[in-house]
Amino acid sequence: MATKVENSQPDGALQTKERYAHEPGVFGEAIAYFNEAADRLELPKTIRRILTHPSRQVIISIPFQRDNGEFEVFTGYRVQYNFARGPAKGGIRYHPGVTLDEVTALAFWMTWKCAVVDLPFGGGKGGVTCDPSKLSAGELERLTRRYTAEIIEVIGPDKDVPAPDVGTTPQTMAWVMDTVSMHLRSHTPAVVTGKPICVGGSKGRVEATGRGVMICIESALEKMGKALRGQRVVVQGFGNVGSITARLLHERGAKIVGISDQFTGMHNKDGLDPVAAIEYIANAKNQKRSLEGLPGATAISNTALLELDCDILVPAAIENQITAKNAKRIKAFLIAEGANGPTTPEAHQMLSDAGVTIIPDILANAGGVTVSYFEWVQDRMGYYWRESEVNDRLKDVMRENFDEVWNMAERYKAPLRQAAYMLAIRRVVDCYQTRGIYA
Ligand code: GLU
Repeated sequence: MATKVENSQPDGALQTKERYAHEPGVFGEAIAYFNEAADRLELPKTIRRILTHPSRQVIISIPFQRDNGEFEVFTGYRVQYNFARGPAKGGIRYHPGVTLDEVTALAFWMTWKCAVVDLPFGGGKGGVTCDPSKLSAGELERLTRRYTAEIIEVIGPDKDVPAPDVGTTPQTMAWVMDTVSMHLRSHTPAVVTGKPICVGGSKGRVEATGRGVMICIESALEKMGKALRGQRVVVQGFGNVGSITARLLHERGAKIVGISDQFTGMHNKDGLDPVAAIEYIANAKNQKRSLEGLPGATAISNTALLELDCDILVPAAIENQITAKNAKRIKAFLIAEGANGPTTPEAHQMLSDAGVTIIPDILANAGGVTVSYFEWVQDRMGYYWRESEVNDRLKDVMRENFDEVWNMAERYKAPLRQAAYMLAIRRVVDCYQTRGIYA
């Protein structure tokens, strides 16, 4: 049975909702961006107070059996930040750094991400504090099924629809879908998105986040009167988002001069072939699945990677990578945030002052959740679209909302991030004003 928790954390520290808004932490920092945009919109106090509190936070213990027969207990979370526009929506993260604070920030970002691309969803996020690279496939399956069973009352096609995130895959989503369908004794593909195609996934979903990042970069360059061809790009993170963004940009003539994973950065000023890098990490002999030793490139540190001489930087790993410490040394004129929360507010200010254009996470990486929405729609219809149809619709959604954000930024002389928040907040607030506050 899932439990609603407001005042406790697994470590026993006092963790009231109010505390979040004032204390540092991922959520505290995330709120800073919201507050700036809310100030410019002159948002009334009541609605501001509602929007700075998560609707529901669930903490669960997940006992599961290791392959050696022993039991362990992991901690899992599901945060449903806001439901004003529709069911909560957002991924499930498996990572050693997962905390309630981080999951809350991620659920908060999902709320604005869904609104900025005008999807009929609220925001949510889940996570389990674990290192998936140290778990076997069987262990991951048992962990996922128990996690799903623990949150089963609060998820569902009309309640909250999870998806993949860092450390989870389409296979993980298939286990979620199967567990729910078995418990309910009813085929329920629309409970989760990012599934393999054979169990109701959407064509184009695997590529969607990277494709959205690429579309945003193309749109921004168009506005600046520049071509993508020949632009030197650095991509931090070579998981689903980073590797696909690199490949799609490379296909369109950009020069990928740096890539990285959790183990190493790789650099070649004359350009790397991302397809060869994807094949290199997928090779069975490369057991670590690492870019280390990639032919035709020089190893560099993660710090050096972010500061490489380039035109476009795509942080596509995790939070807080661009900080006040390294912001001054970043050379790119355009940053597209493939990851959630890669830039701290202080660094964002420094870069904006220096004239760097930043396409914020809630817009840049919204392609994934947009195709998740298409998947949810297809599952509910029981009718599946061609890949070209998915990609065309994705392009329309991204371009249309990119333009809205860009116009808002021009009208208010605001950075794109503030404009994106303003647009998203306005859309959520419209729903509150129309529905009323049930108090
Ligand atoms: N985890 C992805 C994100 O942060 C996808 C969420 C989804 O598709 O629901 O946007």
